[in-house]
Amino acid sequence: MINDASKERVIIVGASLAGSMAALALGKAGVPVTLIDKERFPRRKPCGEGLSARGQAELAAAGCSLGALGCSHTKLAGYRIFKGKRSLLIPERSGLVGVPRVELDQSLLEQAAQFSSTRIMLGQKAVIHELEGGRCVVRVGDIEERGSALVIADGSASPTLRSLGMSITTPRSPRLGTSSAWRLTRGTLDPYVHTFLVPGGEVYLTPLADGRFNCSVLGSQDLVQRFVHDRALSLHVEEISDTLGIAISREYPFLSCGAINTLYRGATCRGAFVIGDACETFDPCAGFGMTHALMTGRLVGECVLEALGRSDPRTALVRYKRDREAQVRDVRGFTRITATTMGSRIGRMSLPFLVASGLAGTVSESVHSPNHASLARRLVSLVGASVVPRAGTS
Ligand SMILES: Cc1cc2nc3c(=O)[nH]c(=O)nc-3n(C[C@H](O)[C@H](O)[C@H](O)COP(=O)(O)OP(=O)(O)OC[C@H]3O[C@@H](n4cnc5c(N)ncnc54)[C@H](O)[C@@H]3O)c2cc1C
Repeated sequence: MINDASKERVIIVGASLAGSMAALALGKAGVPVTLIDKERFPRRKPCGEGLSARGQAELAAAGCSLGALGCSHTKLAGYRIFKGKRSLLIPERSGLVGVPRVELDQSLLEQAAQFSSTRIMLGQKAVIHELEGGRCVVRVGDIEERGSALVIADGSASPTLRSLGMSITTPRSPRLGTSSAWRLTRGTLDPYVHTFLVPGGEVYLTPLADGRFNCSVLGSQDLVQRFVHDRALSLHVEEISDTLGIAISREYPFLSCGAINTLYRGATCRGAFVIGDACETFDPCAGFGMTHALMTGRLVGECVLEALGRSDPRTALVRYKRDREAQVRDVRGFTRITATTMGSRIGRMSLPFLVASGLAGTVSESVHSPNHASLARRLVSLVGASVVPRAGTS
């Protein structure tokens, strides 16, 4: 039996965007928090580093705008999609920016760490020892942390959910992802996410400040492994450099990563709250992952507060599930369209039609803007995509 000595302490596993955002919200409300991550920060993680206007609004509402955090960022005007030498332009006017994760994650964690009642434990895995209606005992090395609520924010592989018996299925045709940091040594990169359609997937260049840019690769295992292991990398670099008239050099190697289109697992698990990628992944080509992490981090802060004030925390869990679902419903439909478009041959062939009809631009803006939910819903029904959530466990 877990005793009540730890009443009110909240344990958060994972100190990336979702976990830090939740810790910040709870710390501000005076709730003691233990925030645990297996990595030491600053650290790199695979990401395309395109942050939507909606994600920026979440940060600003928490008093952590990119400016206030001191994070370098670059405004982006949309997407340029290349197939060989031909290209299509998809404008995105809602305010997408490129922001280095190594800076953003570190700065947000620092904000979360500012409260005296917040305990930060880095460089060690959290292992759930007991979990009973949300109250828990978590082992971090030799230390045992006891909490009256547990928030699982440990990313798409979520070892915590696996250890709790939640099955995490891999999709039938998994898409994988990787990313690395590059620098321009000659020429400039226009303020667009440059997307190269290559056999097996896509290569994305996201401009960052000071001539740096992110290069991420999404697609088949074969394509992603070629980048991770530097096989035939020079051929891709040559093609990209020739097409854009630039010279580039790599700053750190490609980081490997698992399947990126795993979709919904569940917003709660045995009385614990599940947030960010641990709860649901969105194909990164739609750029909603960071936004979802920030959004669920903020939302879970509100719901955990509600749970702590009650003898029965179930209503707060139900509210979290319901409110999160309402906020992702439209976007989920769109990310499916975007991922399907980019990830299939037929979809790629339909890109010129989508662009010519103005749909592609509207689709991309709807995903990234905070104000396009109803428009998004109409468009989703127009193109016939399902907005009904896939069955998940919770
Ligand atoms: C190749 C690629 C490109 C992407 N591009 C974009 C993009 O351009 N725009 C966008 O918005 N999103 C993008 N995403 C998605 C985005 O990176 C994720 O949605 C986002 O990082 C999710 O944040 P999170 O906090 O939920 O989880 P994560 O950022 O994955 O963090 C999970 C944290 O949990 C920690 N952890 C794991 N296990 C344990 C444990 N047992 N104990 C303690 N700590 C643990 C990890 O160390 C990690 O810090 C991309 C993803 C990939 C893979």
